[in-house]
Amino acid sequence: MTAHTPILLDNARLAEALARFPRQRAMWIDGRDDNGAGELIERRSPAHGALVTRVPRGGAADADRAIAAARKAFDEGPWPHATASERARVLLKTADLVDRDRELLALLDTLESGKPIAQARSEIEGAADLWRYAAALARGLHGESYASLGPDRLGFVLREPIGVVSIITPWNFPFLIVSQKLPFALAAGCACVVKPSEMTSASTLHLARLLAEAGLPDGVCNVVTGYGPEVGQPMTSDERVDMISFTGSTAVGRAAMAAASATLKKVSMELGGKNPQIVFADADLEAALDACLFGAYFNAGECCNAGSRLLLQRPIAENFIAELAERARKVPVGDPLDPGTKVGAIVSVDHMGKIERHVAAAQAAGARLRVGGERIASDGLFMAATVVDAVAPTMAIAREEVFGPVVVALAFDTAQEAAALANGASYGLSASVWSRDLDTVVGVARKVRAGTVWANTFMDGAAELPFGGYKQSGLGRELGRRAVEDYTEEKTFHVRNGPRTSWWLVRP
Ligand code: NDP
Repeated sequence: MTAHTPILLDNARLAEALARFPRQRAMWIDGRDDNGAGELIERRSPAHGALVTRVPRGGAADADRAIAAARKAFDEGPWPHATASERARVLLKTADLVDRDRELLALLDTLESGKPIAQARSEIEGAADLWRYAAALARGLHGESYASLGPDRLGFVLREPIGVVSIITPWNFPFLIVSQKLPFALAAGCACVVKPSEMTSASTLHLARLLAEAGLPDGVCNVVTGYGPEVGQPMTSDERVDMISFTGSTAVGRAAMAAASATLKKVSMELGGKNPQIVFADADLEAALDACLFGAYFNAGECCNAGSRLLLQRPIAENFIAELAERARKVPVGDPLDPGTKVGAIVSVDHMGKIERHVAAAQAAGARLRVGGERIASDGLFMAATVVDAVAPTMAIAREEVFGPVVVALAFDTAQEAAALANGASYGLSASVWSRDLDTVVGVARKVRAGTVWANTFMDGAAELPFGGYKQSGLGRELGRRAVEDYTEEKTFHVRNGPRTSWWLVRP
């Protein structure tokens, strides 16, 4: 399509960033640096090709050590029995340390994932807020009591920490996603083993050190780095693990659930999405255009919540797409270290290939490329913001997650048709409805099967609001006021105060 201006990277800025932290990092097991068997995984910045970090290539033996440490910390350690006040103090201190190291954490995420630095900074800020929210919830965690069972009986429902939790996270929001899980598990009193994506491990490894600095006892949080099949797999099947909290693709989530089923672990799954943005002709079209652009290209579309399917009411569809394509051409794609960049690099060569194959297959199936669809000339992995239309709902590009800066557009006539199209994918993570008519907004929102529906906005979030998916987008919810309860078991505690009548001596 249009040839984009090549992206020139600022090597001085890169050198300055790289000078701010050591290249090599160890795993963190039982409160100590752990180098595993010694083999390393190198991570190069997808934007610059420069070596950013080296982390151990952990394996089953390392996962085993970490699970053993977590098990011991849970079974014998002080953490599960610490008061809510003590736990909250550690979480609040961690939040302060995250704030203190915000710039370093943002740099690590930017350099490893390719996301823009301004965005990474606000993700770290948002993550610190989640640690504070978990601290607040820790103080409110409680069970139930029943004084209604008669004068000589009392019933209690105790909430106890579930035990050892395996936390497995993807590469697209490395620090934010671990912060949606770990503080809540810790607030409940659990011990954890965390496996970040092997491409973006550095900020999670740094977090483990911050937790130790904040006073978390040894063994309560362990971080093992490495590949999914080598480290993640044993974390999902080991009998000593009580729960799995996973964020990633639906395919790997399914495999993790299958592995967990042998020992009947509790699972929490945050998976993929193919999220519709439904725009009616009476909407504030300027606001909708801006949100559709944001939804499609935020984090280079490498976002479970990406608004990757535009459903446009027919009278406005053509003009809307034309204007969107015009703006897509101008989206500032560039050096992630430049504070003005809105779209950074694609995470890896493999992932870039997958995005390109999706676009090529759509074109081969008859879809039309309105803009983008090509790499931008550079030393790094950059892809132009892409709009595809003339898309049939049955095409792969309209149903499958592309996870890149690619948005597809389909047209509809009635609200009923819009809801049916929205529900046409096997995912159900999020959706948005754009209209000035209350009946339309509420009617469609209630018909759409998705864990979050936005009305006249997109991707607003708050720690207070639960997040998760319907259908194949997941199982369970994160955040919200029940976020800590997810990491607990309920124990019924039934007490009799007074003599018990023997069943043997009772005569009719
Ligand atoms: P993957 O599913 O490929 O990987 C997720 C994590 O699982 C990684 O740490 C991975 O390790 C690990 N893993 C891989 N194989 C196994 C296994 N057999 N057992 C246990 N763990 C394993 O996802 P991506 O990292 O590619 O992330 C992108 C996906 O994440 C997208 O589909 C996206 O929609 C989804 N996502 C969902 C979110 C949500 O909240 N709903 C939020 C963000 C992303 P390794 O990297 O080493 O392979």
